[in-house]
Amino acid sequence: AALERIAVTEPKVKAYLTVCDAAALEQADRLDRQLAAGEPLGPLAGVPVALKDNMCTDGILTTCASKMLADFVPPYDATVTTQLQAAGAVIVGKTNLDEFAMGSTTENSAYQVTANPWDLTRVPGGSSGGSAAAVAAGTVSLALGSDTGGSIRQPAAFCGVVGLKPTYGLVSRYGLIAFASSLDQIGPMTKNVKDCALALDVLAGHDRRDASSLQYAPTASYTAGLEAPLTGMKAAFPKEYRQEGIDPEIRRVMEETAATLESLGMVIEEVSLPYSDAGLSAYYLISSAEASSNLARFDGIRYGYRPETFENLEELMLKTRSEAFGSEVKRRIMLGTYALSSGYYDAYYHRAQLLRNQIREQFTGIFSTYDLVLGPVTPALPYVQGEKTDNPLEMYLGDIFTVDVNLAGLPALSLPGGFSKSGLPVGVQFIGGHLQESKLLHVAYQLE
Ligand code: GLN
Repeated sequence: AALERIAVTEPKVKAYLTVCDAAALEQADRLDRQLAAGEPLGPLAGVPVALKDNMCTDGILTTCASKMLADFVPPYDATVTTQLQAAGAVIVGKTNLDEFAMGSTTENSAYQVTANPWDLTRVPGGSSGGSAAAVAAGTVSLALGSDTGGSIRQPAAFCGVVGLKPTYGLVSRYGLIAFASSLDQIGPMTKNVKDCALALDVLAGHDRRDASSLQYAPTASYTAGLEAPLTGMKAAFPKEYRQEGIDPEIRRVMEETAATLESLGMVIEEVSLPYSDAGLSAYYLISSAEASSNLARFDGIRYGYRPETFENLEELMLKTRSEAFGSEVKRRIMLGTYALSSGYYDAYYHRAQLLRNQIREQFTGIFSTYDLVLGPVTPALPYVQGEKTDNPLEMYLGDIFTVDVNLAGLPALSLPGGFSKSGLPVGVQFIGGHLQESKLLHVAYQLE
């Protein structure tokens, strides 16, 4: 059914870079035989899933939507791939993204532009736009995204699906092609909150192959307690998250969400996050600095793209990187290299790290009193395709409400909150304290 649905929606939506027809049918057959033989099945048995194309899949093309990895077939699986398969999920395809996950619209893909299923003239968001569109178009009930500065939550908001960015270290990054290692985190994108909780049950847990993986495994299912009343829980609604610059339709949906939560017995209070506007500069410095270092491995020698002709080693590297990286990736590498270079390190990178600490502490303060923070996911509704492509700075500003969460390593969930008058989905964001995913899922479930 998933493959049939893909055949119908893909010509218009273009969410997938690879569809694994044969392998998916084989896996489904295998599950049928297991079922017939009365063998035990995993918790996601037969569930069609899609993976963002920056997660390694053994024997299946993994491109990062870059020309650099146009024919890269990994010889191993990412931990999340192994986990999903062990749970019985059927991988039906790999989804489009902004090249190396850098972007907010999926327009930075070297291969295709994905459309927002709610309005085909608009972007699905990014960088996990393919995963969000794949779920919104009804082709899979679970897709994985990665979130470095909002790339799960923002496309989830643009496409009207649920997206969860877990606590840093809760889900293994082994086999995720790195963008900014101290910020990257994999998480589920689903049609509803319960599916999101079920997926997290499969994904959460320690992995010795990821050095930053937490020594922690949840003891109960994330579905436990979803039904409990919200009475007595406290949410903070920062005044910086309800300012003028936000689209009035998004503000309306947010205020309506706050009112519903109050009617469900939650206490909501206004707080201030004075460092919230500094997050963007800190994020773009730190993420670009880490990207410049992570992407140094694409040198034309070990794997990936190699130019037809070259005279010497230097020319090989120069041509490889000039020809195979897109312009946004080059921009980040240059920004990051500059910020890390001697003489500028203290002025930029070091100061960004100090700000990062301030942002983390600011949240720690809030979570000593409140269960969660309520806010928008984005300041604007889904853009029309091409609307922002010539203005990178304006594009970066759209990440204002998502990046602080990554800098602080916290979990956050994007929930479809309603629709604009024009019929576009609007997301609301819940941010939680360290490892408080259950609280986020609980509150979101009560609102659904
Ligand atoms: N839009 C942000 C950026 O371009 C976030 C990307 C991400 O989370 N991967 O960096």
